[in-house]
Amino acid sequence: MSLNLVLIGPPGSGKGTQAVRLARRYRVPHISTGDILRQAVRDDTPLGRQVAATIAAGSLVGDELISSLVAERLSRRDTEPGFLLDGFPRTLAQTQVLDKMRDHLMVVHIAAPDEEIIKRLSSRRICESCALTQSVSDTGNNEDCPYCGGRLVRREDDDPETVRKRLKTYAALAGPLIKIYSKRPGFIAVDGRQVPDKVTADLYAGIDGARR
Ligand code: ADP
Repeated sequence: MSLNLVLIGPPGSGKGTQAVRLARRYRVPHISTGDILRQAVRDDTPLGRQVAATIAAGSLVGDELISSLVAERLSRRDTEPGFLLDGFPRTLAQTQVLDKMRDHLMVVHIAAPDEEIIKRLSSRRICESCALTQSVSDTGNNEDCPYCGGRLVRREDDDPETVRKRLKTYAALAGPLIKIYSKRPGFIAVDGRQVPDKVTADLYAGIDGARR
């Protein structure tokens, strides 16, 4: 049976890092709506121009736009063995859209408290060249990427004010989503405060257990 994974967690919960590991282990495409939108902004496509200001402000783009983007992505052949959705659904309307598209969802919730998130995001940087996410020390504003030597930059929506706004949006929207999904079979909750490898181990155990 296909593995239809949905990852839910606040910004800075380590969701992106874990998503890459999960996609590799279970051989399913990692579909990050945030990554797709940011790439569109970088490439200056019509979609990118449409969403650039919204993303930079830490607001959500419209349900219809993001839903049709996901529908198109899920219609591709590479999602036959399943997929890992990261960043979608985020609203009740998006939850309903996804329910109409696919069933047997396995929903994974990575939880982390606000203080931890603000701390993590203030040191988060992205490499301009290889796009890897990493964390810098307090003094390390001018560090280069240890992997490719590229310039490390702060994501525009990672400035403290915008982070607070994203967290507020997340808190308001994720609660109802988690309430719905937690009543269904195939719901897995993991503590995102742990070191990344422990979070990964818990995720593997939860997913492997639920598949049996
Ligand atoms: P975060 O790191 O805050 O979890 P993402 O990288 O998932 O954010 O997404 C970055 C931005 O892209 C969001 O702040 C929002 O503007 C837009 N976005 C991504 N996914 C969605 C979605 N499902 N619905 C609406 N907007 C979205």
